[in-house]
Amino acid sequence: MRKFLAILVALIALVGVLGTLAVVFFGPQIGVALMKPMIDRNMQSSQLDELEDGLHVALCGAGGPLGSANRSGPCVAVVAGKRLFVFDAGNNAARNLQMMRLPTGEVEGLFLTHFHSDHIDGLGELAMQHWASVANEVPLIVHGPEGVEQVVNGFNSAYAQDFSYRIAHHGEAATPPSGAGSRAVPFAVPPAGHSVTVLEDDTVKIIAFRVQHDPIHPAVGYGVFYGGRSVFISGDTLKNQTLIDQAKGADLLVHEALSRKLVGIMQAGAKKAGRKNLEKIMWDITNYHASPVEAAEAAQEAGVGHLLYYHIVPPLPIGLLEQVYLEGTDDAFEGDITLGEDGTFISLPTDSKEIKVDALM
Ligand SMILES: [Zn+2]
Ligand SMILES: [Zn+2]
Repeated sequence: MRKFLAILVALIALVGVLGTLAVVFFGPQIGVALMKPMIDRNMQSSQLDELEDGLHVALCGAGGPLGSANRSGPCVAVVAGKRLFVFDAGNNAARNLQMMRLPTGEVEGLFLTHFHSDHIDGLGELAMQHWASVANEVPLIVHGPEGVEQVVNGFNSAYAQDFSYRIAHHGEAATPPSGAGSRAVPFAVPPAGHSVTVLEDDTVKIIAFRVQHDPIHPAVGYGVFYGGRSVFISGDTLKNQTLIDQAKGADLLVHEALSRKLVGIMQAGAKKAGRKNLEKIMWDITNYHASPVEAAEAAQEAGVGHLLYYHIVPPLPIGLLEQVYLEGTDDAFEGDITLGEDGTFISLPTDSKEIKVDALM
């Protein structure tokens, strides 16, 4: 037995040495050989071809405005069957969708919750990828409360030179002029307690409703229904009764939350450094976002199946801070909780009660 173990250890060591030598002498060739099948797979198919029938949520951005390696600006991708919808386009939105093999060219609609910069700063690149990745002949459709026209017109104007470069360089067949940029589809925000249907057909229904992000108006959350399953996205809000009422019995609630305790530490740091504007901003932001416990209370009162945190502020650069962020949430919500990161993926298979948590990045 001892002899057998000695041979095994020697073999493992030999494989290790040979592997190291192979990488040293043939590294570039191995890299190219590994790249080819990856390219074939990504060119020929997407995540949409491989998912089981159901409603799926992928975080294309789990953070807020602060820089983070694993929590980009707010962005929630929702796959309903084979159809792809995106809610807010924070920075990295298009890049994270690519990383998750969610095809930017097939985004059927972008839905904006409000017009704070961190929720829209990825719009230009998402529209560009929507156009150029598949030679789309129609622009990216952007649903949002009234005011969305101004945002969309601004991005179209900022990207106008880029459009002309690409059309001149690649030709109108590869980059059809009619598909460049985005097109606004505004809706009127209903009063508190009500919802408006933004999109509805045989398979998918998407509603919007007013949330409470005062003094920011308009600000909405969304609900998506498909195959007997439902997901609600809070947008930026305090704990809000309209959201709780609309999300009653939903399978999944994707809720924003800001840790006042951790932002308080940042505010103290700003004060110590004499940075008065940052000190003021750190104080101001604590009164128009929900705390993690308030989001958990909303999930409990709505009776949802699962709570997924996104728009995580601050973005928890040290893993140990996760416990601080989540303090008290288990007592507030009986169901399962997921602390989102870029790539967090939750599947709700059609006509079941199942909730599967995974990661696409
Ligand atoms: Zn925000
Ligand atoms: Zn906001």
